[in-house]
Amino acid sequence: MANAIMPTYAPAEIALVKGDGAYVFDEAGKRYLDFASGIAVTALGHGHPALLDALTAQAGKIWHTSNLYRIPDQERLARRLTDISFADYAFFTNSGVEAIECCLKVARRLQFARGETERYRMITFSQAFHGRTLAAVAAAGQEKLTHGFGPLPDWFDIVPAGDLNAVGGAITNETAAIMVEPVQGESGIKPMPTETLKGLRRMADDHGLALVFDEIQCGMGRSGKMFAYEWSGVEPDIMALAKGIGGGFPLGACLMNKEVGAAMTVGSHGSTYGGNPLAMAVGNAVLDEMTKDGFLANVIDVSSYLMDRLDKLIEKHPDVLELVRGLGLMIGLKVKPPVRDFIAAAREEGLITAPAGDNVMRLLPPLIITREHADEAIAIIDTACARFTAADAAE
Ligand SMILES: *Cc1c(COP(=O)(O)O)cnc(C)c1O
Repeated sequence: MANAIMPTYAPAEIALVKGDGAYVFDEAGKRYLDFASGIAVTALGHGHPALLDALTAQAGKIWHTSNLYRIPDQERLARRLTDISFADYAFFTNSGVEAIECCLKVARRLQFARGETERYRMITFSQAFHGRTLAAVAAAGQEKLTHGFGPLPDWFDIVPAGDLNAVGGAITNETAAIMVEPVQGESGIKPMPTETLKGLRRMADDHGLALVFDEIQCGMGRSGKMFAYEWSGVEPDIMALAKGIGGGFPLGACLMNKEVGAAMTVGSHGSTYGGNPLAMAVGNAVLDEMTKDGFLANVIDVSSYLMDRLDKLIEKHPDVLELVRGLGLMIGLKVKPPVRDFIAAAREEGLITAPAGDNVMRLLPPLIITREHADEAIAIIDTACARFTAADAAE
């Protein structure tokens, strides 16, 4: 049968039709350990009983009302997210890129409210990823994202990732904001050094710019803290969340401080589905789990265990593996064979992972995994490495 899906995806030949905790099953019933989590989305694994209960209970009450009426669970989730973060206000979306769009709009609006109407430009980093709208692909500026879609919004000044001098040089009296991923995800799991984030904060303060963090991938416990910025102690003015926040239900959020939120007025932004009762029921249930004692400690424990085991594997297979880096359970393993081949080999051996730039295999397991799951993944990666070593020897 011809495929009627717009030809932008090149999926593996398998369909994953059932999930259970850290495992997924394909149509033939083959079991895989899921160390991709649908690209950092299913942070509590598959079929988590608390999420199932929250979703099914809400599904039996009401699905959608629109924001023309109060949504009590939305008020509750906004309060809870702001209580545990730098923020004073939250706006809910259905995806990551809509959260980014909200970040860009509120940053502009902040400058407008200050009377700084000439400040409209944004400084962003090379190798960034902020999603797929025209503004978001322009913000990242990578040819593979923008090819054939021009003319693009031309109000982004893209500087080499992490280069503070370049940021300083790019700031003009038209600059409104700086936007950065505290850990770059798609480009190969690259944590921004604390000093870089501090430097960005200082420059933003000195020049009256909004500092925007894209924590869509690295936020919500993924780094071992609820928000990755907590590792640096640097707080943004505006932050995008998505992926793990809904545990698999489409949900994103834009968090902002008081001054930013106060620049917005009734009717100045909105979304039909954003913050709907189903998403809010699940979002609150996800947060219940993530704020339980020991949840983040487990992420940190399994992370250091896994990193350590990966270091040993690199020593064992220097011809196949190059290096490991990351934060929490956001881990990048740089390999020497083409990463897609390596990932396919691991998948055949029963481990699901995700590719990233820089020839990196991304390990983004559910945050609920144990050391036993880590051992299982290590054994599979070991076997996959042996395949490549054997292939080299046969040549
Ligand atoms: C996934 C991602 C996005 C885009 O999220 P969508 O839900 O696909 O729109 C933006 N920024 C980062 C850092 C991401 O990882």
